[in-house]
Amino acid sequence: MNQEDLFKKIVAHCKEYGFIFPSSEIYDGLSAVYDYGQNGVQLKNNIKEYWWKAMTQLNEEVVGIDTAIFMHPTVWKASGHVDAFNDPLIDNKDSKKRYRADVLIEEHIEKIMEKIYKEVEKAKKRFGDSFNEKMFVSTNPRVLEYKEKIDKITKRFTNALENNDLEDLRNIIVEEGIVCPISGSKNWTEVRQFNLMFETKLGSVAEGANTVYLRPETAQGIFVNYLNVQKTGRMKIPFGIAQVGKAFRNEIVARQFIFRMREFEQMEMQYFVRPGEELQWFEYWKEKRFKWHLALGFSDTKYRWHKHEKLAHYANAAYDIEFEFPFGFKELEGIHSRTDFDLSQHEKFSGKKIRYFDNETEESYVPYVVETSIGLDRTFLAILSASYKEENLGEESRIILSIPPALAPIKAAVLPLVKKDGLPELAREIMDILKYEMNCMYEEKDSIGKRYRRQDAIGTPYCITVDHQSLLDRTVTLRDRDTMLQERISIDKIFDTVKSKTDMNTLLKKL
Ligand code: ATP
Repeated sequence: MNQEDLFKKIVAHCKEYGFIFPSSEIYDGLSAVYDYGQNGVQLKNNIKEYWWKAMTQLNEEVVGIDTAIFMHPTVWKASGHVDAFNDPLIDNKDSKKRYRADVLIEEHIEKIMEKIYKEVEKAKKRFGDSFNEKMFVSTNPRVLEYKEKIDKITKRFTNALENNDLEDLRNIIVEEGIVCPISGSKNWTEVRQFNLMFETKLGSVAEGANTVYLRPETAQGIFVNYLNVQKTGRMKIPFGIAQVGKAFRNEIVARQFIFRMREFEQMEMQYFVRPGEELQWFEYWKEKRFKWHLALGFSDTKYRWHKHEKLAHYANAAYDIEFEFPFGFKELEGIHSRTDFDLSQHEKFSGKKIRYFDNETEESYVPYVVETSIGLDRTFLAILSASYKEENLGEESRIILSIPPALAPIKAAVLPLVKKDGLPELAREIMDILKYEMNCMYEEKDSIGKRYRRQDAIGTPYCITVDHQSLLDRTVTLRDRDTMLQERISIDKIFDTVKSKTDMNTLLKKL
């Protein structure tokens, strides 16, 4: 299956099986806003729990908070979001579609990269076993030409971004012959800056109302509470503050389903350290966060590091963990060393001292910060796209979501083989054993085969089937989602068996 088809299928699957719906769908939806359905919310909550426990419960020095979406408007002045949280946008005059100029150029570079990849694939076929890829890409004239082109555009592009040279961004688009994907034309407007924050009014809309913003990141809620938490929690540096919450960005290019939304959720942690020790903690968190991803059990080839060559003015190191989505490797999580920028800015703008007195060094300083920032919705999409499989079973086929059992929306489905003879009553008895500890589903409609398929499609790790033999010897069949193997097992053992495979601790203990 090609990746584009796969992505379309995942989007359709999400809707059909109650994971994700377009927002306000009966009114034709709202662009880049989505609702989570009955299975989606369970998966999302489980991902959140995995992150929350991994960060706060397993690290004694990390505590969690939950701050408001509305914040004092000066917060966003201090953080730089009012002045610099911009994307360069460009419109195509024929299609009237709006694009991010940087994204158009990045996609153009990506296309040239694909050409290199195609050359390599062609040569691989031609030369067979004797093919030396390294040699080929460093000597083949066509590949070298593409590489030179990429280098040239990248350099110019980085320069234009750094110097806020909007004219040159446009020139790159025009000179490279980049066309609008909809109209196919090169009829572009100028490039303009566009602030991504949503504004609204606090209080009555009449005179005196205050403009406030919907927060574009959760991190600032942590920074402005640094003193509160440090003092009331008597925290000693190094320590961290974590939170999960909604963030809002008026994204121009709102495509790719829940990858880029206008309302989304972030899971962020700010780790406060002694100045000069930040790069050591940066390495520490890089390793820890990568392990968190790998513990999910997907192939490690799905993840890669991306080093930021162009650092934000306040950062002294930044890496992203990229995931191979069906539309290519893209950012899933950022790990950034943000120096003392944010706290110092808040000191300046609030006029309050935001310091830490270090008993060991007997010094008072503004702590440095290492941040880990991951999108909850993007993690959801990553897990779903790595789990979605279509399997051929001879005559039949099935769709299976091999979601890590600890994250699966439903841990076990309890299925009476028929709707009579006392089987439903025994099945209900089993539901009562399981339901206080895990999310289960009772289902008695349709043939057992159909019910298995439905559970496979939502990623339920176990199906428990109650049949006539169950009435005689209190055993049931336990069917494994991935292997489809069925074993007969005593009702007494069900709880422990299902729990031991689906418990959140199975993931946490790998960390
Ligand atoms: P991108 O370059 O993809 O726009 P970013 O670098 O602006 O992302 P950050 O500001 O570092 O993203 O935000 C941290 C994380 O929040 C990202 O790694 C991503 O997982 C998530 N995120 C950011 N913007 C969105 C969005 N519009 N929709 C969904 N998730 C998002």
